[in-house]
Order: sequence, then C-alpha cells, then structure tokens
Amino acid sequence: MATLTFTDTHCHLADPALSARSPDILAEAQAAGVCRFIVPAARQADFAAVLSLAERPSVLPAVGLHPWFADEFSDGLYSETACILQGNPRVWVGEIGLDFIRAADSAARQRQLDVFRRQLGLAKAYRRRVIVHNVKAAAAVAETVKTEGFGYGGIVHAFSGSLEEAQMLIRAGFKIGIGSLLLNPTAKKVRQAVQQLDLRDIVLETDSPFMLKDGVNTPANVCRIAEIAAQLRGVSTEEIAVQTEKNVDALWDAV
Ligand SMILES: [Zn+2]
Repeated sequence: MATLTFTDTHCHLADPALSARSPDILAEAQAAGVCRFIVPAARQADFAAVLSLAERPSVLPAVGLHPWFADEFSDGLYSETACILQGNPRVWVGEIGLDFIRAADSAARQRQLDVFRRQLGLAKAYRRRVIVHNVKAAAAVAETVKTEGFGYGGIVHAFSGSLEEAQMLIRAGFKIGIGSLLLNPTAKKVRQAVQQLDLRDIVLETDSPFMLKDGVNTPANVCRIAEIAAQLRGVSTEEIAVQTEKNVDALWDAV
C-alpha cells in the first residue's frame, strides 16, 4: 500500500502542554504520515508561539481569540491581529466562533457574537479563511457569516452537532473538521454525520492536546481518526486520506 499522508487541521501546538516538545511531536506525527498542521491561537498570548511554529512550511498558522476568552477582546488585540495579517499572507483567522454552552447569559452570548463579528470582519478585509469553534451555535454561526458577507470559508472544527447542522455550515462555505470525538464510541451524532456527509466536505483533526479523557492528544492520532472514519463509511483508509488531503489542498493556498 502506498504511504498515506494526512493533515491535522486543528492542533494547538503552541499550548504549554505541547510547546516545549513540539519538535518531537512534529517528528512523531511525520513518521505516522501526518505531514501538515493547521495551528490556531486561542488567545493573544499564543500569537508569537504560533507564528514561530509557522516558520516551518508544514505549519499553517491562525491568529484570533477563542470564544471562551471573549472578555479579553481589546483594541490592542484587534490591531495586533490586523498587523499580523497585513504582514503575512499565509496566516488565517482563528480560533474564533461561538460556544453557547459556555455563555452563561444573553450578555455573554452577545459579547461572543460581537467579538466573532469583529474578527470575521478582519478575515474579510484581509481575504483570509477562518477556523471556527462552534458549540450549540451552528445556526448563529451560519447567520453571522451571512450578515457579515464573509465568503472565504475555512473549517468549522471539532464538529459535534447533527447532520442538518453540518449541512447548514457547509452551505455557509465551510469544511467540517472531524476529530477526536470519533475516538469515543458513544458519540452517536458525530459518527452518523461522518457516515452521511459527502467526503468532499470533511477534513481531519485532533484538537491536540485536548479531547482525550486520559493523557495528552497529539497530531499522530489523525491516523486513528482516519481509520475509524473509514470503518464507519465502509471504505479504505486510503480513500479517506486521499480525499481529505484534496480538501485540505483546496484550502491551504491563499485565497
Ligand atoms: Zn481548538
């Protein structure tokens, strides 16, 4: 069998749980066939580490503020993000989005929506793709993308919703990031979505270092996720690898 290659489309290699070991982690992943990495920031303090990892051509960086930290949004963060996008045409905007489980009240939701809107505006102005975190907010993500007139797409990562929600996000221009939830046999909805979505709409990810009950997740686990996706769809792992790599190729180069 030909050697299969994969991309981890969502790994927080700048996270303190991984950053000190990132050269080893990247080497281990590469040995397993995981050769490209999309590395988002979660907050402003990550930006420098994310950009330094992206000195490797195999790493595609994103800068942005995760919805869990929406209260940290500031003019300084906005202008630093703009400055990075201006200076580096490879950088995406992320991880941005909406997490309505983490929003305690309507004011917190509104705050997330405002911050998401501002960052989508930056992605639109600099013609960049985005990495979106969505938990229980698919309709609001699709609606905000539409009202902001954002049309460069990207990835909605760690998909956990229903097939209908996935299709709503695909219509809004996104690929669906399928990841470590598949390692959990009881994650019924996401397993069903993987069986039924068009393979052209799926990309693979780990969300390292998160998502594992025990231990630290790393990008090498993309291979395992591809194998489970193949079993669920009744196709070969090679078919999953080839098509998901094509899907990433279509996103990798600048808009
Ligand atoms: Zn993430």
